Amino acid sequence: MTSETTKPLIETLTVIGLGLIGSSVARAAKKHGLAGTIKGGDLSDAVCKKALEIGFVDEATADLGAAVAGADVVLLAVPIGAFRSVGEAIAASLKPGAILTDVGSVKLAVFTQLEPLLPKGVHLIPGHPVAGTEFSGPEAGFAELFENRWCILTPKSGGEGKAVTLLAEFWTRLGSKVEFMDAEHHDLVLAITSHVPHLIAYNIVGTASDLEEVTQSEVIKYSAGGFRDFTRIAASDPTMWRDVFLNNKEAVLEMLGRFVEDLTALQRAIRWGDGDALFNHFTRTRAIRKGIIEAGQETNEPDFGRRDGKK
Ligand code: NAP
Repeated sequence: MTSETTKPLIETLTVIGLGLIGSSVARAAKKHGLAGTIKGGDLSDAVCKKALEIGFVDEATADLGAAVAGADVVLLAVPIGAFRSVGEAIAASLKPGAILTDVGSVKLAVFTQLEPLLPKGVHLIPGHPVAGTEFSGPEAGFAELFENRWCILTPKSGGEGKAVTLLAEFWTRLGSKVEFMDAEHHDLVLAITSHVPHLIAYNIVGTASDLEEVTQSEVIKYSAGGFRDFTRIAASDPTMWRDVFLNNKEAVLEMLGRFVEDLTALQRAIRWGDGDALFNHFTRTRAIRKGIIEAGQETNEPDFGRRDGKK
């Protein structure tokens, strides 16, 4: 083997925000030997200490400017609402030619928040791994999180060719399938596939907990009837999801409008005893789940693989 083939893809990688996603990227990059050095930055000293203790970064600091100095690729994995302040803290320390990317769940806001702050010669290429769990923090991450999951990159057209190729290679080697999309289109697609479903889960769990005629203990006892699947989603990080809704307002409101119209149609079918309408609707939606399973994005085990409620 020549030294050329053993050279890591990225000399110095810095991950800012060492929670679930940031620590998973760092863990996976380490596992696959994709970076010579992995530096971590997080405002919390306790998180930096934990990251070093677990060992998914080689260095960690709460001084974000120092964390990005000399880095070839900087990946932001903080809540979207923190992007501007992190951008302000790191902009002057980014080296010319560096790639700045992120994992945020909303993409147009990345350009609006970061682009005005960046020095010339820094390549801004937003990204979004469509993978996650309802847990947070550095201990929640794992190296396999991105395997067989999509990662969407939303570069602006033109000028970023080499940097985009490198990032696509990075995510492919982390195990992801890479797709390119316009940032605005990404936000619309994710509004219906992720953001509105989370809002529905937050809403239904809230409604159930506010009911007066049905007790809390009844809601918990009979949750296997469907409710508990919503509670997993509704346990997702409040900061992250507040920021998603504040930063993808237009697309979420557009999709929510359509959702409410369709809900009203179902409500009418129930009121008028239109069994055919209900049956046809439920048949169509069952086929969508089949498609998701066939695409390898979900397990085909009954009840998500839980056994007798033990899992
Ligand atoms: P997380 O586990 O809460 O990690 C975020 C980390 O960023 C925490 O360590 C947090 O520290 C730190 N942080 C917060 N504000 C900061 C700041 N101003 N400067 C530096 N560090 C800061 O969250 P996550 O789930 O990894 O989410 C991170 C990003 O990934 C978000 O933009 C989210 O939209 C995106 N994403 C999440 C998922 C998912 O399923 N969770 C999936 C795809 C993409 P403190 O805890 O001390 O605040």
